[in-house]
Amino acid sequence: KQSGRNTACYFDPEMQQHIENALLLEEDLHRDQALGFQQLELYYQPQVDVFGKVQSVEALIRWQHPVRGTVSPLEFIPMIEKNGQILAVGLWVIRQACAQLLLWAQHPKTAHLTLAVNVSAKQLADPSFVDQITQILYDTGARPELLKIELTESSVVENVEQAIKTMQALRALGLELSMDDFGTGYSSLSYLKRLPLSQLKIDQAFVRDLESQADSLAIVQTIIAMAKTLKLKVVAEGVETLGQKECLAMQGCELYQGFYFSRPLTVADFELYLNVQDA
Ligand code: C2E
Ligand code: MG
Ligand code: MG
Ligand code: MG
Repeated sequence: KQSGRNTACYFDPEMQQHIENALLLEEDLHRDQALGFQQLELYYQPQVDVFGKVQSVEALIRWQHPVRGTVSPLEFIPMIEKNGQILAVGLWVIRQACAQLLLWAQHPKTAHLTLAVNVSAKQLADPSFVDQITQILYDTGARPELLKIELTESSVVENVEQAIKTMQALRALGLELSMDDFGTGYSSLSYLKRLPLSQLKIDQAFVRDLESQADSLAIVQTIIAMAKTLKLKVVAEGVETLGQKECLAMQGCELYQGFYFSRPLTVADFELYLNVQDA
């Protein structure tokens, strides 16, 4: 009772529960790492062109926890970024993605698909990152030009010079580079011009308010115009309605990703989605 204000939170049962959960997850992930990431799974969300044809896919990680069910990456990625496990998990994601590309290369319906993976700041800053990707491409035999790396502005601005070097090395390998959540970060034109990107992803916040807020429409128009000037492709994420898609198409957006087309799917469901599209 005599302890100060600062310790009050230790007795807040909700906070206590939250901390315990986080610790438990962390322990579980350590154990799982020993098992070879058996509880981790990639989900796939289609990116479609203006005709609705799937051109590309984003891999999104899920943790199938035996007791807690599916754990969102929003919950466990920040945790493993702090404790360093992101490096091993990140490599697992890329290896898994490349193996999937190789499977898709064998079927005419999937051979054209490019596959995007998310990479966090810690991975981009890891001096062995490029060598490790080179090794994975070599081991799996996946075509590098079908692999796309999604970065965020915050992971680049931490150390712009180093990030540019790494990005150039990845481009030299043949990979595509996409700037995720674009418009929410720093977006300084002067450094954007220097980044060897192939694509910008319009953040879902702007897509959400596209039809209701003039500001968002103006931002989307600016991003698309900027992308065209810099010769970058544009993907809109978080497309949930036909209205949003049509509005984006009117502005010249070429690729769309969002619940309106499909949620992220297991690989089996994704392949069903492709077949349904054909029917
Ligand atoms: P992100 O890369 O920006 O991925 C887009 C997120 O938006 C995904 O959430 C996706 O499920 C969600 N989304 C897609 N379409 C819609 C829509 O129409 N409406 C709404 N409301 N949401 C939509 P998810 O799968 O929960 O992933 C969250 C974030 O976790 C990702 O954001 C990414 O930053 C991170 N993440 C996911 N997988 C990985 C990974 O393998 N490695 C790393 N480092 N981060 C990952
Ligand atoms: Mg992404
Ligand atoms: Mg995003
Ligand atoms: Mg996001």
